[in-house]
Amino acid sequence: MASYLTTEDLDVADRRILVRTDLNVPLEEGTVSDDYRIIKALSAVERLRNQGAIVVVASHLGRPKGVNPDLSMQPVAERMSQLGGFEVRHLDAVVGPSVKQAVAEAKPGDVVMLENTRFEPGETENDPELAAALATLADYFVEDAFGSVHRAHASTVGVAELVRSAAGPLLHRELTEMGKLSDPNHPYVVVLGGAKVSDKLGVIKSLLPTVDTMLVGGGMCFTLMKAQGLEVGNSMVQDDMLDQVAKLVDGPYGARIVLPTDVVVAPEFAESAPPRVVSAQEMPPDQMGLDIGPDTAAAFAAILDDAECVFWNGPMGVFEWENFRQGTAKVAEGMAEANGFTVVGGGDSVAAIRMLDREDDISHVSTGGGAGLELLEGKKLPGIAVLEKWKDD
Ligand code: ADP
Ligand code: MG
Repeated sequence: MASYLTTEDLDVADRRILVRTDLNVPLEEGTVSDDYRIIKALSAVERLRNQGAIVVVASHLGRPKGVNPDLSMQPVAERMSQLGGFEVRHLDAVVGPSVKQAVAEAKPGDVVMLENTRFEPGETENDPELAAALATLADYFVEDAFGSVHRAHASTVGVAELVRSAAGPLLHRELTEMGKLSDPNHPYVVVLGGAKVSDKLGVIKSLLPTVDTMLVGGGMCFTLMKAQGLEVGNSMVQDDMLDQVAKLVDGPYGARIVLPTDVVVAPEFAESAPPRVVSAQEMPPDQMGLDIGPDTAAAFAAILDDAECVFWNGPMGVFEWENFRQGTAKVAEGMAEANGFTVVGGGDSVAAIRMLDREDDISHVSTGGGAGLELLEGKKLPGIAVLEKWKDD
């Protein structure tokens, strides 16, 4: 039983519903260059609208310090309107008289979109005044931005303390699917990659005791390799993490960590740099590792093939460049062929899965990067905790 309300529990007809969505999309020259998150967010907006609610959509976009016209929600509202086939009225502020008036004028079935919540300095500080101003716009609050629930902001926590709140359909699905990883079938294999080992140290520590195997590639594997005394050349390394990483590798569960046996190296960090496969034992000092090698990729894929449960976060190499994409592609293939329950999470990991056209082969593609990792670590996420108080209200 979920410990929070869902939209099914709310009688939304003729009510004003503030929906916190994740519309933090990439923009190029003022237009939305990838509308994946808008398409996802539409499910909640359409559902509420069809039930006769007045829908007030809120999201942050990028990391503006105060008002920044380059990060306006205007192009996002426009794209949502095109995709949904209904008007999405873009408002010129997050709160204030003009917003109040627009919401008061809205009719059941109408959709309005607030300006970028981070235009308000009080957003990231969870300022009570901003939370109260947001609360005046809504009869109910729906949290549907899984990627933001690990942050205690005014639009994720502050407003939810003041207005009866429920989880939206995307958030509910995330919590249900990610929740299955807390009681995994075995073999349970976790694949970690991506850029910084510092981002993933918490999840390595908390998952090692429950996994059967942890496959490590990506930029982060070079810090682990260096901690084992291997030459890693000019590869990405976080020297300040070496001590902590060495403790894990040499610790009681260290044998569960599987590192690359071969690496694709290049002389520089460039798309056109010539790739070369070398043994992980003999990395040239003047080269950098930009992907796992073919033997490693095949070994990782074979382990995944036999897994009953898999969680993957972080690409195996610089997948954005064709020369260094093979490791990620091969692991994606192994993931797709696994019999068991498979989850991919993380912004770049999901981008890689979509680029490789493997989305339909994965049990659950999670949209929350940092939030997903914190959930797996067993941390209490503030944006979820605040929903729980409305459950028995
Ligand atoms: P996610 O967003 O899925 O959590 P990260 O943000 O941790 O993943 O890492 C993704 C980035 O890591 C990608 O941009 C990718 O190019 C980069 N990366 C992967 N392997 C390497 C490597 N060997 N050297 C440098 N960067 C790498
Ligand atoms: Mg990332």
